[in-house]
Amino acid sequence: MDSNTLYDIIIIGSGPSGYTAAIYASRGNLSTLLLGGAVSGGQLMITTDVENFPGFPSGIQGPELMQKIREQATRFGAKILDEDVLSVDFSSSPIAVKTKGSQFKAKTCIVSTGASAIWLGIDSETRLKGKGISGCATCDGFFFKDKDIVVIGGGDSAMEEALFLTKFAKSIKILVRKDVLRASAIMQERAEKHEKIEIVFNTEVKEFHGENALESITVINNKTGKETTLSAQGAFVAIGHKPNTEIFSGQIELDKKGYIIRKNFSQTSKENVFVAGDVHDHRYRQAITAAGYGCEAAIDAMRYLDDHS
Ligand code: NDP
Repeated sequence: MDSNTLYDIIIIGSGPSGYTAAIYASRGNLSTLLLGGAVSGGQLMITTDVENFPGFPSGIQGPELMQKIREQATRFGAKILDEDVLSVDFSSSPIAVKTKGSQFKAKTCIVSTGASAIWLGIDSETRLKGKGISGCATCDGFFFKDKDIVVIGGGDSAMEEALFLTKFAKSIKILVRKDVLRASAIMQERAEKHEKIEIVFNTEVKEFHGENALESITVINNKTGKETTLSAQGAFVAIGHKPNTEIFSGQIELDKKGYIIRKNFSQTSKENVFVAGDVHDHRYRQAITAAGYGCEAAIDAMRYLDDHS
């Protein structure tokens, strides 16, 4: 890819927001480069059935949906490079974006780097990650045939992980720290009705045990203080996400939790830098809203370029 080219737009990130921005920008005749990260496709690459994306009445697998949106983006001429962005300079004009091997220049940028899974942050979790503790049922569920498993979290991700794991596991306990679930009604109902799933409220993980593989988990009831040790060979942590904004710190304004702040529609604190998707949106966090934000950001970038040509 030619690093001397001055692109109209560089899009950083390859989830539904980034790819949708690329469709709109390239179809709008902007020279468009999408830097998709070494692992492209975003969170939908580790999702199974997507049942709520319009246009797929029988549902679609997450990776297949992403592949289709990617193909649609390239159809109109967007260039896609699956490399991680290491740093950006939004103060220069044109803006500069560095990957491991190259530096690219553009008049505008859309940041759509998404969000990543959050972990509990206890030492035994770090030690046993990949040895029974996982953040992705789709990736690792297969390894837990006929095992006793826990899923941690009370949101849609936790319900989805648990339901997916019913294909493999002998039993699944969902550990929820509050006395209510945060998940949507339909996902709650599916989990509650499933014979392999038990939902345990007011319960937090104190410690994971096992030398080279997870064997058991000490949990604490945060109402009574009672500790219990559960036998479990698998634990799936599904407690939410944090925005991928480390490389933008000091370049554009972030809020206290690290999400990018939108100043004027999709514009950030830099007038030629726009934002789309979960990297600013901690409220909706859906594939369809991310795609919508990608569309908005591309239109705003096009208008900015029209006004400054
Ligand atoms: P959420 O933020 O919705 O839920 C996180 C859950 O983890 C909450 O129950 C929270 O508890 C719990 N939690 C957070 N920190 C801890 C901790 N340290 N220890 C124990 N529990 C903790 O995140 P999700 O990833 O579930 O969902 C994110 C968004 O994505 C939502 O909008 C969701 O609807 C959407 N989504 C949709 C899906 C679908 O429609 N198929 C599938 C997956 C996600 P508390 O309530 O106490 O804060």
